[in-house]
Amino acid sequence: MDTFFIEFRDPLFGIIVFFLLLFILSFISYWWGRRKSTNETKEIEIFLGKFDTTQSEDAIASQVCENATTNETWLLLASGFEHQGNFEKSIEIYLALLSKKNDKAVQKEVLLKLGRGYFKAGFLERSRQSFLQVLQNHPRTPQALHHLILIYEHLQQYKDALEAMEALIEIQGRSGCEKLYLEARQMLSNPKASIDEKAHFLIDLYTQHAQLGYLVFEYLFAYRPELAWKHFDQSLSVRLADILWRVPSENLDFDIIARNGFLRELFSARGSCEMSQSSALFELDTLMTLRRCGNTKATLQFEYVCGECHTISFLPFHRCPTCHAIDSIESIMTLTKERFEDNNSFQ
Ligand SMILES: [Zn+2]
Repeated sequence: MDTFFIEFRDPLFGIIVFFLLLFILSFISYWWGRRKSTNETKEIEIFLGKFDTTQSEDAIASQVCENATTNETWLLLASGFEHQGNFEKSIEIYLALLSKKNDKAVQKEVLLKLGRGYFKAGFLERSRQSFLQVLQNHPRTPQALHHLILIYEHLQQYKDALEAMEALIEIQGRSGCEKLYLEARQMLSNPKASIDEKAHFLIDLYTQHAQLGYLVFEYLFAYRPELAWKHFDQSLSVRLADILWRVPSENLDFDIIARNGFLRELFSARGSCEMSQSSALFELDTLMTLRRCGNTKATLQFEYVCGECHTISFLPFHRCPTCHAIDSIESIMTLTKERFEDNNSFQ
């Protein structure tokens, strides 16, 4: 019996009782609180009806509808959840806010945030429906169109992405290289187009616009290296260092390499030729020195940085996963140990 009372005085017990009381109070508030009349539009009702709601969403909805807290505070709270990666909670708040009586401007803002929340959480179809809902009442909303393009791109529905792009160009009057990028991705994903057709499409694109250099030469060096060298843009040498580093020796064009200082250093460091003895770049200079000493167990590895937002990635990208900029990739070379030789156990 004594033991029971000692546990009763435990601080943890107090905390449990406190949360129990909070829980009970929120339920009392749920059952007995005054219901505010909701004046949501029919479209929003239909929109919300598309998604299943859980019990916890109902609880948040009642808090959002019955609590005196302002919309701005709820949006701030939802944004905080979003920054923590708790998209489930932020989406619950947005959905609850949409069920409240709000003016059209607030509904539009919340729908945009809801769409972005679903997009970040990976619910692409729900995100698409949210942005389409925005566009239904506010067709000239660039943010909604921009995200629709991203969604269609993720789903590889490039025809729809290009249609949304046309609408965005009408509003903004410019597209940068985004339209070209979508057209290139559409061509590359077309199963009916041959490798030669794709290669010539990319060459024409680069010749006319001098954009998407990384995407164009990545494909060409992988599938048509002779065309890649024929149309090679020497000004891209440093940017394409990782792609060039992986080109097999039999596909190298030593005439072009001999005319370019960076390429001479890069391929001398790789051991494919001996056209250069030193380099201003530490990594290449070190590799050349090591090779002269007979050490071939060092190589280069690459990381990638976005030229716009400076996010670093271990994988190459054509559209930055963080800021969604296109063709903003820059490669960073670092020295590393050659792993292949140690792991080569086939012989
Ligand atoms: Zn970026």
